Amino acid sequence: MPFTTIAPPEAGLAADFADLGLSEPILKAVAGKGYRTPSPIQRQCIPAVLEGRDVMAAAQTGTGKTAGFTLPMLERLRHGPHARAGVVRALVLTPTRELAAQVGESVMAYGRYLDLRADVVFGGVSINPQMQRLRRGADVLVATPGRLMDLQQQNALRLDRVEILVLDEADRMLDMGFIRDIRRILSLLPSHRQNLLFSATFSGEIRKLATGLLHNPVHLQATPENRAATTVEQLLHPCDMARKPDLLSHLIRTNDWQQVLVFSRTKHGANRVAERLEAEGLAAAAIHGNKSQGARTRALAGFKSGEVRVLVATDIAARGIDIHQLPHVVNLDLPNVAEDYVHRIGRTGRAGQNGHAISLVAAEEHELLRAIERLIGTTLPRQEVAGFEPTVLSAPPLDLSGGRGRRRDGAPRRDSRPPAPRRRR
Ligand code: AMP
Repeated sequence: MPFTTIAPPEAGLAADFADLGLSEPILKAVAGKGYRTPSPIQRQCIPAVLEGRDVMAAAQTGTGKTAGFTLPMLERLRHGPHARAGVVRALVLTPTRELAAQVGESVMAYGRYLDLRADVVFGGVSINPQMQRLRRGADVLVATPGRLMDLQQQNALRLDRVEILVLDEADRMLDMGFIRDIRRILSLLPSHRQNLLFSATFSGEIRKLATGLLHNPVHLQATPENRAATTVEQLLHPCDMARKPDLLSHLIRTNDWQQVLVFSRTKHGANRVAERLEAEGLAAAAIHGNKSQGARTRALAGFKSGEVRVLVATDIAARGIDIHQLPHVVNLDLPNVAEDYVHRIGRTGRAGQNGHAISLVAAEEHELLRAIERLIGTTLPRQEVAGFEPTVLSAPPLDLSGGRGRRRDGAPRRDSRPPAPRRRR
């Protein structure tokens, strides 16, 4: 599916992969994947990376960012001498094992006609085979920070020859507490190298990291910062907290959804809902940090193949999951951090396809809802579902007219305080 439905080629930017400066073996691999036109982030990113520039890109999963950095990275690497024993030439850091595996698959696919060695390492699986493989060196190594540090401490690899560093989903790496590992990894890299930083959101902390890391970077943006992709239809069903699992099951059945990603704030909640759906005969699985790597991989594979109809995930586990044209995302709970809402609904409506993001919101969550609506700059449409109307009323929609909770005369509006949940009579 070409990306041209998301945005027309910007003036002056190449509309074809062949015009981007990539060589034949890479173009052949891209054609083999079925891509016809580069996505907006690819059109901007590929030439900048080929020029050797540092890049800071606001891009979330679904924009084609992986090919955006991988294709030009492979192009640059193919021109240099191959990795010697123990040496890593390009290092891609990702927050989660799933994302590392996915990026690794992309690197293998795009590099299939090149004579480069790529490898993927992450925790939760045995370290010994990884140590053995790395002895031969890697032109590209995709890694999660913790496992990379373990391998480095065991002298399984050398990072002092890294030519290109990619931090993928940097915001999530910081959220997950990897900052110390990242700083230690940075201290092991040579000072002369190319740096690419990808992040869906740009907090002060990310900007601070970027300032110390990037030299005269090109700033790129795939979607306007902190805005949800426009192809996602967002809807909110007010309901009582206790009725959420019933409502979820009702929605899946009545709409006959065949592939639904459900977000739960807690691991326990994810398990409970998945078990409950299973008991009702809906094929469901949960993924979260307490599940073994094998169980996570199996659940994800089942979901991709259609065997598992409902995948219930926590934010961290779901991060970076790339499922082509995922049609439905349901927020069983609203996330504690408003930015996570943007990440969550970024799972759907990909590559120009329409997606649906539905949030089940209880009155207790209206503060979280307000924060989300403020961040995305819009009020989510409310729709009660017959038979599931809330008995505790939610807050009225947020006033985004610019009043900012003050009257024209500057006095605070009487309704500017969040109202306490009211019981419906
Ligand atoms: P990413 O944002 O890198 O996770 O990529 C999202 C999805 O888009 C992946 O399934 C890619 O295979 C796909 N993709 C990447 N680039 C293109 C392109 N130029 N045309 C069509 N699909 C693409």
